[in-house]
Amino acid sequence: MNIILFGQPGAGKGTQAKNLWKKFGIPHIATGDLLREAMNEGTSLGQEVAPYLEAGRLVPDALVSGLVMERLNSEDCHAGFILDGYPRTLPQVEALETALKEKGKKVDKVVFIEVPLEILLQRVESRGRADDNLETVKRRRIDYKNLTEPVKKDYATRNLLATVDGLGTTEEVFGRILASLPQNS
Ligand code: AMP
Repeated sequence: MNIILFGQPGAGKGTQAKNLWKKFGIPHIATGDLLREAMNEGTSLGQEVAPYLEAGRLVPDALVSGLVMERLNSEDCHAGFILDGYPRTLPQVEALETALKEKGKKVDKVVFIEVPLEILLQRVESRGRADDNLETVKRRRIDYKNLTEPVKKDYATRNLLATVDGLGTTEEVFGRILASLPQNS
């Protein structure tokens, strides 16, 4: 099962990805985590992406797509994967489609975890991550609207998008996610 988790920071994607991993045994690939890891390890990619992450700006498509494709080639992705934070732009959608097609694979479902803005802001505030200051939160919201909303629309027109209510306990939200997935994959 190849799943994309979609939602703004604070929507609970990390928690739900963990639940999906436990249930299906497929890895959680969070581009934000991969990029932060590269940055902390000081690799050349890490050094290249650091200014973007610090400013809350999107990393150039080619860099992030390269990283994801490399990860998707790993052995543990054969039975499926959970992508979190990718694709975030239409060129990234294109890159993913091309790579999956080459492997005879496809995206099975894009799950959008919907949480009202006031709650998202409260959650992000209490998370206290270094790149969570007001400026970067604003920047991310602008990019989300301009670049990531079209990704959501694209998956919706292809009937791949499921919108799930992200309020309630993590178990409740997970139940809704499971119900939204194709039943026999
Ligand atoms: P996240 O943890 O998903 O909020 O990502 C943290 C930061 O990593 C973002 O603010 C971007 O700078 C970068 N990032 C993560 N995923 C992507 C992506 N798909 N495309 C571009 N930049 C990304």
